[in-house]
Amino acid sequence: MKHAAKLVLPLLIAASGSALAEESLAPHVHGEALLQVVLDNQELVINLNSPAYNLLGFEHAPQTDEEQALVENLDTNMRDPQFWLELPADANCSLSRVSLGQHVETTKQGEAHDHDHDHEHEHEHEHEHEDNDQVLSEHRDLAYEYHFLCADPDQFDQAQVKLFTHFPALTSLHAEVIGASQSLQELNAGNTLLKMP
Ligand SMILES: [Zn+2]
Repeated sequence: MKHAAKLVLPLLIAASGSALAEESLAPHVHGEALLQVVLDNQELVINLNSPAYNLLGFEHAPQTDEEQALVENLDTNMRDPQFWLELPADANCSLSRVSLGQHVETTKQGEAHDHDHDHEHEHEHEHEHEDNDQVLSEHRDLAYEYHFLCADPDQFDQAQVKLFTHFPALTSLHAEVIGASQSLQELNAGNTLLKMP
């Protein structure tokens, strides 16, 4: 299942003016997620964007107590970046801000979309123009943004990503890393070490 829900990316990435940022729009592909790491002097900004499917197993708004509990548990866990990310202690990075966001993409019969983003579709829907509000598909991306201040940024040479042990549905993490230079890295359950370029 491939449905391209393009995310609006944080200004910091766009403001970096890098060619990398041009490719930063994250396609919504179940099993895949995007990680962006920017270290600028002492300021470290980390963005994680993932289809909710990878983290929750579903993408609709929670409908049962069990689903609601899963969402709240995920929020609680993800507010603490140490849940999924191990920064080098020597870098002395302290968390200054966390923000959680989401982007919902709904496709209804006879109605293209509920808003104006660009879309790519693997298959075309028939435009039947019926008065029918049945939701054909709903996709949800979850976004997490963390700001750190690192007292010794020179010591930030790598980081361990622990997402794959917590979220088995996540199989591939595309990482865009900007430090002294920049690199694209592919992480997975067998390769969880993010290296600063
Ligand atoms: Zn989806």
